[in-house]
Amino acid sequence: MIPPINAHCPVPGCKTKAPHTADPQVQALLSQSPATIADWTKRCMVELIQSVIADINAPGVGRMFAYLTRWRDPEELYHRVLYALLIAPESHLPHIFSGELPNGFSAIWRKVNEVVYEGRGELLKERTDPSGRAFTAMGLLNQNAHNSYFTMLMTFGVVKDSGNEWKAHVQRHLESWQRRVEYLNHIEGLFRAGRDKAVILSAITNMHRPIEAWKNVKQPATPPVKLVRAALLTKGAKCRYQVIDQPPDMKEFRFRLHIGETRHWDEKNLVFVRTGSQQELLEAFEADLKAVKKEGWVEEGSWGGDAS
Ligand SMILES: [Zn+2]
Repeated sequence: MIPPINAHCPVPGCKTKAPHTADPQVQALLSQSPATIADWTKRCMVELIQSVIADINAPGVGRMFAYLTRWRDPEELYHRVLYALLIAPESHLPHIFSGELPNGFSAIWRKVNEVVYEGRGELLKERTDPSGRAFTAMGLLNQNAHNSYFTMLMTFGVVKDSGNEWKAHVQRHLESWQRRVEYLNHIEGLFRAGRDKAVILSAITNMHRPIEAWKNVKQPATPPVKLVRAALLTKGAKCRYQVIDQPPDMKEFRFRLHIGETRHWDEKNLVFVRTGSQQELLEAFEADLKAVKKEGWVEEGSWGGDAS
């Protein structure tokens, strides 16, 4: 059944009796920039990470229960901020900031998985434990967050059986949280630089994409410019860059040149010399190269042509 639409909030299923924006705390959050929200999330994750490090290093066998019960927290912080800043419709932000139901982690994670992880996420994937019981990592996170008896059993069982061994696993966990803090740092910087939401979303999607998955990414169907010959020369503080290439939409080749104080060259500062057949231009290129070397230009780098 589709929940009735609330006049105060566009989020399906919300039961608020007044617009969320009437709440001064929601207003305070809405007045923060996305960069600030990313920064706050990052700092909160760092506090949790430092706290877990202290749990591992606590005297004796450490504090496993304290760690387990906060296992979901960094996950929730991270996915919620990606959802709020990059995926959710902007009209949903007051609801998300209000914390009112529905605002569950599972639903948020599902969206992030769909968009940022491109469906590769594993938190909701069903697995089987050694006794044949089905479980999901999400279920485990929730059990732990609720201080369940199962979590107590796990704590005292694992610690009794293996003492300190659990700490090595937590170390790996901490590293993945730390990596996400770095990702958030990058996102914050992109927001501060005024980049578009779509650009930032694509950046975070790329950061999460494993090498294997890159192979399946369909690149836009623009064939690359075909580079035929290039050389970089210098004379004192001056640089000379000459290049022959062929754009995908051109039958002819082009000979272009950049001379300037900067070693940097791009599409804007390359000057068109001429177009022609590959053979013609290559001959011109080599003649040019020979002539400028006589004028004192020194070849620093060369691409294409023969090595002589
Ligand atoms: Zn709402």
